[in-house]
Amino acid sequence: MPILSYCSAIRYRFAASEAPYLIQLREDFFSFIGDNSPLVGTANIIPHGGMLSPSILQCLHDTLCLKGFMQNVHPQIRINPAHSWILSYPVSSLPVGSKGVQSSVLSILSGCEKCDRDLVNAVKDKLKISLGADTFRGIRFQEDWLPKILQTFSNTNSYLSMCWLKAVGGGWTTSIRMHESVLLPCVFGCLDCRDEFRHYLVCPILWQLAKEALNLMETSFEIGHRLCLSEVNINRVRLLGYCHSLYHYIRRSPECFEANGNVRDSRFIQSFAASLVRAIRPLISD
Ligand SMILES: [Zn+2]
Repeated sequence: MPILSYCSAIRYRFAASEAPYLIQLREDFFSFIGDNSPLVGTANIIPHGGMLSPSILQCLHDTLCLKGFMQNVHPQIRINPAHSWILSYPVSSLPVGSKGVQSSVLSILSGCEKCDRDLVNAVKDKLKISLGADTFRGIRFQEDWLPKILQTFSNTNSYLSMCWLKAVGGGWTTSIRMHESVLLPCVFGCLDCRDEFRHYLVCPILWQLAKEALNLMETSFEIGHRLCLSEVNINRVRLLGYCHSLYHYIRRSPECFEANGNVRDSRFIQSFAASLVRAIRPLISD
C-alpha cells in the first residue's frame, strides 16, 4: 500500500492547483524580509526557524519542483517515458484516460514504493495497542487475510483502502486519541461510551446509519468481521469506509458542536448524519 506516494500525490494536486498563489507568497516573503534574509535565502530555501521539518510553503514548493519524495518520479520516468508529462505539467496535459492529476501522480510514484517490513505483524502489533490486548485476542484472523484484502483493494478506489488502513492502524482522530481539551462521549449518543475508536467498532448507532445508507446487512457484528480480518468482503470494506467517513465528517462539522466544544444532542447528530448520505456514498463506491 503506497502510503507515502498517496500523500505525495495529494500534496502535488493541492500544490499544482495553488501554484500561482504559492509562487507569489514566496516572493512576498523574500521581499518582506529583504536584507534580513539568512544565507539560506540565497539558495531559495525558506528559513525553518530551527524546526526539524521544512515549512509548509517550502514543502509545497519542493513538491512543485519534484523534490523531496517527488524526486522518485525521475527513475520511474526512465523506466516508463510515458510518465514524462509531469516534467512540464501543467503546460503538458494529463495522460489519456487519466482520472485526474492526483491519480496520475499516484500511478507514477506507487511503482517506487514497497513495504519492506512484515506488514502482517506490523498491523497486528498496532491493532493490539488500538483495541487493547483482550479485544485483540478475540479476533479470529482468516488465513491469508492480508493478501486477500489487497486483492480486494485492487478492484476498488484508493480512498476505501485508506479507510481500512486508518482503521486497522488506529488512525481515527477521536478526541481521546488526539488528547483534546474537551474529551467527548460517543458523538452518536451512546450512554456512558467514550469518543474512542474501540467503541465505534461496536457503536450500534454508527453501524446502523452506515447499513441504512448503503442498504447493506451484516452477518456478524464481531470486530474481526467489521475490520475485514476474519472474512474479507467488499461490502464489509464499504461499511467500514462509510463509518470512517461519517465519523470524521461529523467531527469536522462545527455545526455539530456547542460553543463550549461539547457535541450537540444525539437527535441533531443523527439527523445531520442522515443528511450526509449523498455526500459520502460516492466516496466509497467503485
Ligand atoms: Zn456509540
